[in-house]
Amino acid sequence: MTKFEELGLQESLLRAIQDMGFETPSEVQEKAIPILLDKETDMVALAQTGTGKTAAFGFPLIQKINAESRTTQGLILSPTRELCLQITNELKSYSKYDNVNVVAIYGGASITDQAKQVKKGAQIVVATPGRMQDMINRRMVDISKIEYCVLDEADEMLNMGFYEDITSILSHTPKDKSTWLFSATMPKEVSIIAQEFMFDPVEITVGSRNSGSDSVVHEFYAVSGRDRYLALKRLADANPDIFSVVFCRTKRDTQSVAEKLIEDGYSAGALHGDLSQNQRDLVMKSFRTRQIQMLVATDVAARGIDVDDITHVINYQLPDEVETYTHRSGRTGRAGKNGVSMVIVTKSEMRKIKSIERKIQKKFEQKAIPTGIEICQVQLFHLAKKIHNTEANDEIEEYLPAIMEIFEDTSKEELIKRMVSVEFNRFFNYYSKTRDLNQPKGNSEDNSSRGSSNEHSTRYFINVGSKDGYDWMRLKDFLKETLNLGREDVYKVDVKESFSFFNTDNDKKEKVLAHFTDFKVDGRFVNVEESTNSGSSGGDGRRRRDGGRKRRDGGNGGDRKRRSRRSETNTASNSSGRRRRSESGGNERERFRGRSRRK
Ligand code: ADP
Ligand code: MG
Repeated sequence: MTKFEELGLQESLLRAIQDMGFETPSEVQEKAIPILLDKETDMVALAQTGTGKTAAFGFPLIQKINAESRTTQGLILSPTRELCLQITNELKSYSKYDNVNVVAIYGGASITDQAKQVKKGAQIVVATPGRMQDMINRRMVDISKIEYCVLDEADEMLNMGFYEDITSILSHTPKDKSTWLFSATMPKEVSIIAQEFMFDPVEITVGSRNSGSDSVVHEFYAVSGRDRYLALKRLADANPDIFSVVFCRTKRDTQSVAEKLIEDGYSAGALHGDLSQNQRDLVMKSFRTRQIQMLVATDVAARGIDVDDITHVINYQLPDEVETYTHRSGRTGRAGKNGVSMVIVTKSEMRKIKSIERKIQKKFEQKAIPTGIEICQVQLFHLAKKIHNTEANDEIEEYLPAIMEIFEDTSKEELIKRMVSVEFNRFFNYYSKTRDLNQPKGNSEDNSSRGSSNEHSTRYFINVGSKDGYDWMRLKDFLKETLNLGREDVYKVDVKESFSFFNTDNDKKEKVLAHFTDFKVDGRFVNVEESTNSGSSGGDGRRRRDGGRKRRDGGNGGDRKRRSRRSETNTASNSSGRRRRSESGGNERERFRGRSRRK
């Protein structure tokens, strides 16, 4: 394996690299750095998002800059303010032992402040095309002597309609500079730029062109259109440690999905173009600090997102362009980590999956939306691990003897069972009453109607399910026979894996409940209870998100919405001083009332 030492980098950079903890160069770095150091040449480098392109041009650029001169020698154009700042920070840490000034130029901040910084002597300017154009027009920056021009994330810049700005900016630069173009994909527009503005560029390709990164697994989930949102929640619940970007097609959907998630108690936030820069900054800050676990975003707004460790990209809706899908999924699986790109599709969108597969040359795996019971299992183990890994709070010490007394008669097993139940019941109670969201497989009498209790009808829970050999017809027959009821008396039978639901009219309720007291089948207690689920809410919702990761400081991007949409927003501190978020409102709160979660 090649080492950084073998690429021809100077000592000061090697030291900085060591400080940053980079051990070996990534492929694009290994390929690009020696060439860029060795000669003055144009270059087109194609490599997936997250493969270390910034350093691939950043290291050589810093080495080639004459730190003695204060003239602006390098210009980096990047699509968004986010990226612009990110690149600037990266370059600053690369050049910590070299006396190079890097200045960021981007919209939404004081142009005069930026001009002042440039004036102090900026050997490298990192800019968004719009603001750069602006500053050129106002003669606040001089790029007539640059030797290196980097077009970073060129595909995204062009996607965002910066073609004219770019060509105009380039017209202010010297002809004999070197131009380095870095891009994740190579759409037509990028090759046009390369043809027009570059001279015999060296081409570097990492991985195959336009193909997705290998560290990303692609999955799709087929649901009916009206279940999209419920499916999204299940995907989140089945992945308790999820840190994700959820892509929607429109600003409106983005806002409404984020609002719904927040209402249902998830740590979510919206990112789209109708928000002010300030609001967007806040959301991004919350996301970076993990206060937001699910960032719901439009494609355009998400262009700036460059956050490592995103575990899942969720395509709430598929984009029109395959390129866009590539960009979306490239948000995960970065920096050597693995990631999952999930797509929620309806039957009619299935052919889109095929066309994406062809384009990215990867197969999608069709997966089933987790069932309630599966989610309960995941949450149960997550909870057990969480308790196991929780650092005990010493403040509790003084109460310990008294607490010990309370538990004197409780065995360790029993204690653990009860502790876990405190939280688990919430999931169980909720999920035991939900249906399968996957496209009908015919195990339910009526997939379209959620069972419910109303003034005439009672809904019951019964602890037998498909595991016990029942489908809805068998269970209905069984109930009819044991209860001695007629064909129409038992309805809305919904069979899950290990439990089921059914309805009778209210006048049968006494009979049903009485019959199933101490009722055994094959030596096993068959238990029927009235289901507390009011059911009629479309509510797959529940839950508050645990506040474990939330910081005390720092705003939350969702706050604005939460205030306006929810009457009850309760942020309290628990004993360990962490923030917790209140349970979601409405129905959900009703359902979980009385759980002593908060003090
Ligand atoms: P790209 O521009 O290709 O999307 P970045 O340059 O933003 O990727 O790099 C992605 C992440 O990988 C960053 O956090 C960066 O610090 C890290 N990184 C880059 N090069 C290396 C390396 N050689 N070893 C370890 N981490 C690296
Ligand atoms: Mg980059």
